[in-house]
Amino acid sequence: MTDLAELLQAADRIVAFTGAGISTESGIPDFRSPGGVWTRYDPREFTFDRYVESADVRRKSWAMREELFAHRPAPNAAHRALARLEEAGRLSAVVTQNIDGLHQDAGSRTVIEIHGTMREVECIGLRPAYGTPDGCGFRQGTEWVFARLAAGEDDPRCPECGGIIKSATISFGQMMPAQAMDDAVQQAQDADLLLTIGSSLQVYPAADIPLIAKDAGARLAIVNREPTPLDGFADVVVHGSAGEILGAAVVS
Ligand code: NAD
Repeated sequence: MTDLAELLQAADRIVAFTGAGISTESGIPDFRSPGGVWTRYDPREFTFDRYVESADVRRKSWAMREELFAHRPAPNAAHRALARLEEAGRLSAVVTQNIDGLHQDAGSRTVIEIHGTMREVECIGLRPAYGTPDGCGFRQGTEWVFARLAAGEDDPRCPECGGIIKSATISFGQMMPAQAMDDAVQQAQDADLLLTIGSSLQVYPAADIPLIAKDAGARLAIVNREPTPLDGFADVVVHGSAGEILGAAVVS
């Protein structure tokens, strides 16, 4: 089997597809890690509909965000390796399921965030239905909410229209962002190597991206601590830590 460094060297339109596992070495737990945020907050409680219906769910959601923001993580060797590949003109885009902004902190410029970003909040309107935000366009850094909470509000509302404010992330039961998904599919179709890093590849439709690339003729490389359901389709599979593996495989 070809090794990862060789595949990376042979490619010049690499698209990286990253999941929570690329950020665990930066101190952000993935869904399964013991003590991770999702072992203390029940993800089923944070569906889009429940967020819209319940001020209590919104309060809990802001408490969780404050906890997530309490420590400021830094990008690790894997994020930096992808930024170097882009700088060298060999990586076209990072498509990420992560909401943590660490790719941009590492210097990546073309980052497609298919699950949104936790660094911003947005108005989603007064009573959005069908998992679709229906806001007035108000959008701010997440610190805006923290300032309102510190000032004594527990359910900050849009200053423009009174709508509900929500983190600019994609919740369970929320429609995927159409533009970001279209861009991700286009990148996957144009790639000559699709490199997935730190994703269990179990969340659809996001996990379709590697298969779309493979169907369009790209090579597929998977770097993950555990086996994934797509390992059998890959040209190279490396089981281990993303930072160590990418740090070593991307030399330039
Ligand atoms: P996941 O938690 O389902 O899977 C993460 C995978 O990464 C696991 O298979 C694990 O074995 C592997 N892994 C963990 N640490 C690793 C490391 N250092 N090196 C290599 N592999 C490692 O995550 P997912 O597939 O990204 O999907 C779950 C959802 O979780 C996504 O929707 C994402 O939005 C969300 N999420 C994001 C963050 C973040 O932004 N950092 C954190 C937690 C969850």
